[in-house]
Amino acid sequence: MSFDSLGLDAEILKAIQEQNYTDPTPIQQQAIPVILSGKDLMASAQTGTGKTAGFGLPILQKWVEQQAQTTNKLEAKKGKRPLYALILAPTRELAAQIGENIREYSRYLPIRSLVVFGGVSINPQMMKLRGGVDVLIATPGRLLDLVQQNAVDLSTIKMLVLDEADRMLDMGFIHDIRRVIAKLPKKRQNLMFSATFSDEIKVLAQSILHAPELVAVAKTNSASEQITQYVHRVDKRRKRELLSYLIGKNQWQQVLVFTRTKYGANHLAEQLTKDGIKAAAIHGNKSQGARTKALADFKSGQIRALVATDIAARGLDIELLPYVVNYELPQVAEDYVHRIGRTGRAQNEGQAISLVCIDELPQLKAIEKLIKKTIPELTTQGFEVDPKIKAEPIKKSSQRRVPPKRGSANSNRSPQFNQNGVKSSSRHNHTKNKQPN
Ligand code: AMP
Repeated sequence: MSFDSLGLDAEILKAIQEQNYTDPTPIQQQAIPVILSGKDLMASAQTGTGKTAGFGLPILQKWVEQQAQTTNKLEAKKGKRPLYALILAPTRELAAQIGENIREYSRYLPIRSLVVFGGVSINPQMMKLRGGVDVLIATPGRLLDLVQQNAVDLSTIKMLVLDEADRMLDMGFIHDIRRVIAKLPKKRQNLMFSATFSDEIKVLAQSILHAPELVAVAKTNSASEQITQYVHRVDKRRKRELLSYLIGKNQWQQVLVFTRTKYGANHLAEQLTKDGIKAAAIHGNKSQGARTKALADFKSGQIRALVATDIAARGLDIELLPYVVNYELPQVAEDYVHRIGRTGRAQNEGQAISLVCIDELPQLKAIEKLIKKTIPELTTQGFEVDPKIKAEPIKKSSQRRVPPKRGSANSNRSPQFNQNGVKSSSRHNHTKNKQPN
């Protein structure tokens, strides 16, 4: 199937040609016709499958079509640009990434898109909204702040996208999402994307989507085939040494490293730098400026190792990212799939290596159960595990459950979930890092 056969506008086709996209990816092949037909969509697709264009391109197409129809209508006469589509994303990085993609795809269209997220000044965002915007990409918290300040009118929205809906729930955004949805017109098209399909997601989907078409590209909870995965058993105290050794010996020039905690990310970035490997940390406690700079330096090759926590890494889109290292395994097995999904994106191959100490064997078991395969082991001479070392329980992170800005979302999560008919997951409540948006 080619992009030409999807019925997209010539200006859109020109822009995607310039992106060197030759054929639509499977999610694009399935999702684009459904969205163009006007139906609601529930799509199970991980980041890296091309899902952003999967919803971005048909949104642009539908906007073009409705522009042609409404040129002479009242709204146009008033000179106002009514907001056409709203895309909600859980993290700033993902929102920025979606915004960048939409800008690229709409390069030849007279459309205005805007990205808004917290952590940066609200005033420039308000100014831009006042000037009129067609497609708004937002994180839920900042969007509600803008709504409260009457800076944005959501009543004209025709299309809503919830991207990485599973992560939105994990991060405690359910109430923010519901508050946003309450401001939208009843008649609209809804698109929901999620990497995993938990019961919570199904309940959310039932309450938002109307007779949705279901589209799935990779098996739920399965890791991409293009990613070669390895486990490297190692003693905890030798992990850093091994990581520096692997980076040096294999001459990895761009490696994304995951730690469980923000402190761990900072500490490891400092240690790698001491080992002569240029590194930076990216996590929720860093200012937006510092996060953007670290990502830009990583993309441009000025730093070799980007050390990230799970939430900070969501939505990072780094072309051709070849290596992901799990310096520590995540406490929730699904996060493993999200983490390694940073590599092997689109048609590229990637390698994911997990450095696993004896304390982490239960997590490894849970991950292998989830992905339904045993991950092959790598060994390195001189880094064999010491059989005398006994397992110690993993210390739970001290920075868990940072309440979100508007105390409502996380503070009393289970009862609030129940109020909305959404079952709360005790595992998520007790084990996940939560960082404000
Ligand atoms: P996403 O899953 O939307 O984050 O996309 C992952 C990566 O695939 C991004 O770098 C996109 O630019 C790229 N991509 C999206 N669609 C295509 C396509 N049809 N052909 C090649 N690359 C694509």
